Amino acid sequence: MVLRELGADAVPVRRPTELDDVAGLVIPGGESSVMDKLSRTFGIAEPLKARIAAGMPVYGTCAGLIMLADTVRDAIEGQQTLGGLDVVVRRNAFGNQNDSFETDLDIPELGEKPVHAVFIRAPAVEEVGPAAHALATLPDGRVVAVEQGALLGTAFHPEMTDDYRFHARFLEHVAAAA
Ligand code: GLN
Repeated sequence: MVLRELGADAVPVRRPTELDDVAGLVIPGGESSVMDKLSRTFGIAEPLKARIAAGMPVYGTCAGLIMLADTVRDAIEGQQTLGGLDVVVRRNAFGNQNDSFETDLDIPELGEKPVHAVFIRAPAVEEVGPAAHALATLPDGRVVAVEQGALLGTAFHPEMTDDYRFHARFLEHVAAAA
């Protein structure tokens, strides 16, 4: 696991009580509508919203980015998010033809070397509100990485490459919040 390789003491969080033990959280890829349902069924959605509001660092990748978005387009009926990021995200924004692809992104905040980004049925950020900040943009203008205080979101999956600069940035947020 990337966080352990970077020296962090990483543990899985499934239950509300486990949330009390961590200083930050990574919400991985998956299926955001299922994550939403399970997080509400298991009672972790509300405590998580409270921690996010209190400034806990969170890094969401792909479906995790959707969970952090204040607004989602093409959500399933009744789908909710945790929110926190002042962005509008569209689920499955790259359609069926192009649902998985890889590209290199220039992200000056992370240094000179481009970030190799792997997209899998990925969302795209269609609007970035005043509180949030775009870190990476595709040539067509769609935003695919955002930051807002201690919240970080990418539409792609850095954990599928050996470039851990996003995870390192998340851990910097955790260290700064401690
Ligand atoms: N399409 C998924 C969703 O809507 C996200 C895919 C992913 O996390 N790789 O939640």
